[in-house]
Amino acid sequence: MSAEARAREAICRLGASIFARGLTFGSSGNISVRIADGYLMTPTNVSLGELDPARLAKLALDGTLLAGDAPTKESFLHRAMYEERGAAEAVVHLHSTHSVAVSCLADVDPANVLPPITAYYVMRVGTLPLIPYFRPGDPKLADAVRSLAGKHHAVLLANHGPVVAGTSLGAAAAAIEELEETARLHLLLQGHRTRFLTEAQAWELRGG
Ligand SMILES: [Zn+2]
Repeated sequence: MSAEARAREAICRLGASIFARGLTFGSSGNISVRIADGYLMTPTNVSLGELDPARLAKLALDGTLLAGDAPTKESFLHRAMYEERGAAEAVVHLHSTHSVAVSCLADVDPANVLPPITAYYVMRVGTLPLIPYFRPGDPKLADAVRSLAGKHHAVLLANHGPVVAGTSLGAAAAAIEELEETARLHLLLQGHRTRFLTEAQAWELRGG
């Protein structure tokens, strides 16, 4: 099987798994993988639970559709990540409930929305900047993602959801799932006195 065929299968397997676990719903959420001559991306208006490997959108590096169904309308989020992160091989964007809830909280630190609750969150996500709200389709949203993507493989779009890049599809999926679970823990801990990891402990986990 070619590398592209393997990537197509992997995207559909991940989509089905994400959908089955309730991390996305309706036709929300999208997945992409970098291939030799461009990107594979999930199509617009299709449930991640019902992806067909043969119908994924295949895009050239400039975003032109080469084959398959039209890509997600949020393809610009993925391209902004790839363009700023040479090592990114995959991008996952979800409207997963707890992450979206956190993206709607008032009075968060926009430079780093979630506190260092667990070691795995710090290792897989690190710091999570909040990107201000823009209406769907506003090109300023791509510019805002681009401005932070060089320094951050994970960003949270206000009142919308997370976008996470990884050096493999598995790494991007693991990071966005860790983010979703940490968002859930953060909400569970609201109103409880909490002992977060210290700055020194978080610094050590980020590689010092
Ligand atoms: Zn979205």
